[in-house]
Amino acid sequence: MRVRIDLHTHSTVSDGTTSPTEVVEAAAAAGLDVVALTDHDTHQGWAEAARAAREVGICFVPGMEISTKYDGRSVHLLAYLPDPAYAPLSAELAKILAGRDARLPAMLHQLAAADHVLTAEEVQRHVGVHGIVGRPHVADALVAKGLARDRSHAFETLLNPGRPGFVVRYAPHTSDMVRIVTDAGGAAVVAHPWSRSSREVLGREAFAGLAATGLVGIEVDHQHHTPDDRESLRRLAEALGLVATGSSDYHGAGKVDHELGCQLTAPDQLRRLLEAAGLNAAASGRPVPAVAGVVPWDRAA
Ligand code: AMP
Ligand code: ZN
Ligand code: FE
Ligand code: FE
Repeated sequence: MRVRIDLHTHSTVSDGTTSPTEVVEAAAAAGLDVVALTDHDTHQGWAEAARAAREVGICFVPGMEISTKYDGRSVHLLAYLPDPAYAPLSAELAKILAGRDARLPAMLHQLAAADHVLTAEEVQRHVGVHGIVGRPHVADALVAKGLARDRSHAFETLLNPGRPGFVVRYAPHTSDMVRIVTDAGGAAVVAHPWSRSSREVLGREAFAGLAATGLVGIEVDHQHHTPDDRESLRRLAEALGLVATGSSDYHGAGKVDHELGCQLTAPDQLRRLLEAAGLNAAASGRPVPAVAGVVPWDRAA
């Protein structure tokens, strides 16, 4: 049987709808052997997820999905196994989270101007215990108030760029963050590069530049990529010596068509990813977080 690896999931620590423990338990139930938790801009779910992984006997890879910008476009950067205590990383994450907090009153102001009145308290009801507030929580509040049908409808009508509730927030440049993640002993992978607007800025030249900065991989197999996208991205990854990953981008009930294991990473690609993180960790001398459990590389059929 094939080793099943899913390297991109979210929990209630950010904008998923299930706890880190529930994500790991659902991963085991979905027949996954390896799962990464990659909440937005934080490592706060790692300890809980690692405990749950030991409990259910699957392998857990600590990760996060960091908000960055490339030529003014939003680019999500997956960071696997960085030392979260590395000061330049924790400082940038704090700035990003402060930007999320600062965005909320501005969004509520603009939504009110468009006749969709929400209070900060109504939004906070949907935010997890770690206080990381995202547009999906604003969407949840709109749904609870009968102002949108579901998260997707709220994004399409009110929260996407060009819609009344959209407000730009702080994000560091993608290259700067690739360097920081690398120096933190982690491995950086661009998430869903050709979903939404970032496809216009992330071509071969951009990837070549990021690879020279330390980028380790590209998330090729993602629900937002067409078969043609995947073929082109896989070829690009090969040409640049980058790892090609595949993941669900699971958000629990918060995102349809992103079930755990719906996209997978090949074992040889994970092996290369972990080797790259190991080399970066050795070069940085950082005490790096550990994978919980052992990757069952050679599981017999
Ligand atoms: P933020 O980082 O707070 O600006 O919000 C971005 C998050 O919203 C990402 O994690 C996306 O997964 C999520 N998102 C974007 N569009 C949708 C949608 N149509 N339905 C559900 N979640 C979405
Ligand atoms: Zn999300
Ligand atoms: Fe993303
Ligand atoms: Fe994601």
